[in-house]
Amino acid sequence: MNTRPLAVFGGTFDPIHIGHLTVAWEAAELLDAEVRLMPANVPPHRASPQASPAERVAMLRAALAGQSRLVLDARELERDGPSYTIDTLRELRAEQGERPLVLLLGADAFAGLPNWNHWRELFDFAHIGVLSRPGVEAARPAALADEVAARRVEDVSALRAQPCGKLIELAVTPLEISATRIRELLAVGRDPRYLLPAGLFDDTGLLRAYRR
Ligand code: ATP
Repeated sequence: MNTRPLAVFGGTFDPIHIGHLTVAWEAAELLDAEVRLMPANVPPHRASPQASPAERVAMLRAALAGQSRLVLDARELERDGPSYTIDTLRELRAEQGERPLVLLLGADAFAGLPNWNHWRELFDFAHIGVLSRPGVEAARPAALADEVAARRVEDVSALRAQPCGKLIELAVTPLEISATRIRELLAVGRDPRYLLPAGLFDDTGLLRAYRR
């Protein structure tokens, strides 16, 4: 059995930025995992991303060029309708057998977990790795704290010993970067050059969707 974890890092990536890349990279190192970046299909009732799915994928491809530790997995965009993480994890479990799966969530996304479809069942398919994120004061709801108390582990080796069911907090470099802020800067003609991977600049046109 392959005990090297496969980690999934989902998001809108509108656009992908240095915060995403840094924390995904560090999680890959800390867990010795392959990390897949998975752009989400945003459901119709939520604010839609400014860039189209094809544009978000093009930015991810450009951002991930030249390394193989972080990999793009666009399966959720290929599915019709909203992306539910539980369905994606079920699918990955069927593909990967007993290999440990880890769902990576920033601290803000983790605090919102009880709003997700079948959130408690996520642990039947994967471990969860919570990535520290500065500037996020989201309180964790009591239902979440209760659910995770018995699942918490300190040592990454615990994630290799079983395919799913544990929770680990990963302390990663604090970078207070958000896609919202980057979209705001681009909209007013600023150049957030070093908040974004270099491949998105150089007249690639990849940031077109955000300029007004
Ligand atoms: P937006 O500002 O549009 O909401 P975002 O910057 O939060 O975007 P998302 O694509 O929504 O980015 O986030 C995908 C995942 O990355 C989430 O789990 C989120 O918590 C995490 N994440 C994003 N930025 C950071 C960061 N700077 N540090 C740690 N985690 C982050």
